[in-house]
Amino acid sequence: MKTSREIREAFLRHFEQRGHTRLASGPLVPPNDPTLYFANAGMVQFKDVFTGKDQRPYKRATTSQKCMRVKGKHNDLDNVGVTARHHTFFEMLGNFSFGDYFKRDAIAWAWEFVVGTCALPKEKLVVTVFEGEPGLPADDEAAQIWAEVTGFGPERIIRLGKADNFWSMGDTGPCGPCTEIHFWMGAGEPDLAKFGQEPGEDGAGWVEIWNNVFMQFERFADGTLTPLPAQSVDTGMGLERITAAVQGVVSNYDTDLLRPLVELASQISGKPYGGTMSRDDVAMRVIADHARATAFCIAEGVQPDKDGRESVLRSIMRRAIRFGHMLGIERLFLHEVALRVVDLMGEQYPELRETRELISAVTQNEERGFRQTLKRGLEILQEETNGQATLGGAAAFKLHDTFGFPLDLQQQIGREQGFTVDEDGYKAEREEARKRSRGGGGPIRQGEGVAAVHYAIAQRVGATTFTGYERERDGST
Ligand code: ATP
Ligand code: MG
Ligand code: MG
Ligand code: MG
Repeated sequence: MKTSREIREAFLRHFEQRGHTRLASGPLVPPNDPTLYFANAGMVQFKDVFTGKDQRPYKRATTSQKCMRVKGKHNDLDNVGVTARHHTFFEMLGNFSFGDYFKRDAIAWAWEFVVGTCALPKEKLVVTVFEGEPGLPADDEAAQIWAEVTGFGPERIIRLGKADNFWSMGDTGPCGPCTEIHFWMGAGEPDLAKFGQEPGEDGAGWVEIWNNVFMQFERFADGTLTPLPAQSVDTGMGLERITAAVQGVVSNYDTDLLRPLVELASQISGKPYGGTMSRDDVAMRVIADHARATAFCIAEGVQPDKDGRESVLRSIMRRAIRFGHMLGIERLFLHEVALRVVDLMGEQYPELRETRELISAVTQNEERGFRQTLKRGLEILQEETNGQATLGGAAAFKLHDTFGFPLDLQQQIGREQGFTVDEDGYKAEREEARKRSRGGGGPIRQGEGVAAVHYAIAQRVGATTFTGYERERDGST
């Protein structure tokens, strides 16, 4: 088992063989949910099932979910091209238990997949569990199961705090500990002392690959915790990361999922790709990543535009185009990379094939438009920031308004050239302009993380009662 396709298929089959229903990815653009721009985890299509609002004919499911983490609580945009493991668009493999199996099976099956099917060496793995804090119990149960399943001593069953190993929907409602599997990427002996350190620039070091969330408790406003009547499991593993581990490369960009795209960027620009942190190499990785986001967004009907979700896509596309410009590419090119995404992934995601022409046309159109103002905008930026540490709000707004430079593109250039953007000033200018034109469409709403989604749902349906689970339990006992 070597290709990403085989790994995806093996994961889904692994859980099918363990009683899970295999489902297609939910949409990247969640329907009827203005609070969430893009699905950011596998559980998004099941959120109503977890809260008991929606009933399904199965209690176990497995998917490979199209995700994007570009806005809101999970925003990895600035990491893209810089770390070897963060993308805007990625696929999250997941298995889900809706009030069915719990910690023991989830842990045992995850381990079987990682060391059995994927054949990752045990010495290169560690796991983490919740260490507890006043009012929240440590997950000794998960630690005990891990010890039995893996034979690991406490040095490989690492206890971490709430930030990494506890999940909650909001201040009240379902919550519980999570446990994560980390893999030693790269050559050399795995070094336990390096756990918790950021991997090296090449990506070598300990990398989180799989998160298993245990929805165990309900938390009330007075802070008390009660066990949920039916406990659930929600897991997520990045396909790009597990593929890097299986293929024995340290960077996701060297897997068969992304490497062909990096190589195409290299070919178009006529510059070699060296896998380093040089400006050119970062640029090629960003283009590879952003081309995937571009293709998948357009395939779901998102078109680059000025507000909301559309503005997120526009800003991703313009970032990619500007990185291409930086590589010296003078002609329209992004559509070629996006069409390569269609070739690479069209079989798994037929919507890409069905919208091939649209992807090509929309991408060329966007690039043609942006290239008209790109050079002049970069000159203005140069003049405005010459020797200054800050780009003023008025200039930033003008760059946005007249030259079509999204704020995060300005910030990206600032990181490269050593200036910051006066974001408050920019927003004030934007607000002014909105008031003047009176047609602006209100404040920009940010997409939110999974926890916030749960929270929003709870607000709408009063889901803290979890009647679905109770009914189910009453029925079965
Ligand atoms: P990290 O700490 O590396 O940012 P995370 O803790 O934010 O990851 P989770 O929310 O636990 O990630 O998501 C589950 C899994 O999804 C992660 O273990 C990882 O394999 C994958 N993943 C998360 N964010 C990204 C991303 N931006 N690009 C690619 N894979 C990701
Ligand atoms: Mg993260
Ligand atoms: Mg993490
Ligand atoms: Mg995590």
